[in-house]
Amino acid sequence: MEWISYGDDNTRTFFAKAKQRKLASYIYQIRDTEENLLEGFDRVGQTMMSFYKALLGDQSTIRQPIAQEVVNQGPTLTMEQQVHMCNEFTDLEIKEAIFSIPNTKSSGPDDFSMWDWQGDPDYKVAQGYKWQQETQGKVPWTKLIWARSNVPRNAFISWVLIQHRLPTKSRIEKFQPQADTLCVLCSTEEEEEEHLFYTCNYAKAIWTELKKWWSHTPNVQNNRQLMGSLKHGKSPGLQKQITITATFHYIWSARNHRIFQKQQIIAHQTAYLIKDQVRSRILFLSKCFKKYSSYIDSILA
Ligand SMILES: [Zn+2]
Repeated sequence: MEWISYGDDNTRTFFAKAKQRKLASYIYQIRDTEENLLEGFDRVGQTMMSFYKALLGDQSTIRQPIAQEVVNQGPTLTMEQQVHMCNEFTDLEIKEAIFSIPNTKSSGPDDFSMWDWQGDPDYKVAQGYKWQQETQGKVPWTKLIWARSNVPRNAFISWVLIQHRLPTKSRIEKFQPQADTLCVLCSTEEEEEEHLFYTCNYAKAIWTELKKWWSHTPNVQNNRQLMGSLKHGKSPGLQKQITITATFHYIWSARNHRIFQKQQIIAHQTAYLIKDQVRSRILFLSKCFKKYSSYIDSILA
């Protein structure tokens, strides 16, 4: 009752209760394996540590590499099934997949909890799809991004980026004042979407390197120009979309590594990872469909 009456008012009752609850979640006493009662946080910690050490050991056991012959004896996909998995998605399949994502999926303490959707704090993936369809007619992005030829993880990041919903520092700033909104990849400009993926020196170095590797890599400054290049370009569209979505994913990943793991991945290394992934994706697709074999020469260089 006390809690209901005063709890929400930031009163002394509130803090006393909060403290009580916090204390209740600490373990101050514990019995060891010999049933001795031990007290104090240090001793509880030591007891737990030695219990789990005895249970799990303190050295990793030697691991054997997997024998490929044994794996091959298990179920594998037939060529027909592999081809099916690489087919283009139909509009209906995309719609079904997007609408099957529960609405609760986007809220919660994950990377994307900062989203709002046209005034609604709960962004729903299905709403994003509807909006895209209503405002942009045939949803050119949808097909390009959710193409089965793309690596799904890359498709997801690209989809969020195209809808301007990636939690960049400038975007988070709109909801919560941030002490630092500098781009971690160049430390000179604000971290906002166009900068991070196109005009940052880091991004530029990657696009330039990709362009040297594959001359059809688009030379653009923002999403709109990119779309134009995808729609009107004469170059092979498949490799373009795989390259672009992989680039978005790896730039975002380099940015996250810098922030969360405090690791710096140099632009050259990121470009290498992108090329490597595009190469193996195209090789994989060409194994399924003979028609992609024309791409192979250009990417093995
Ligand atoms: Zn930058």
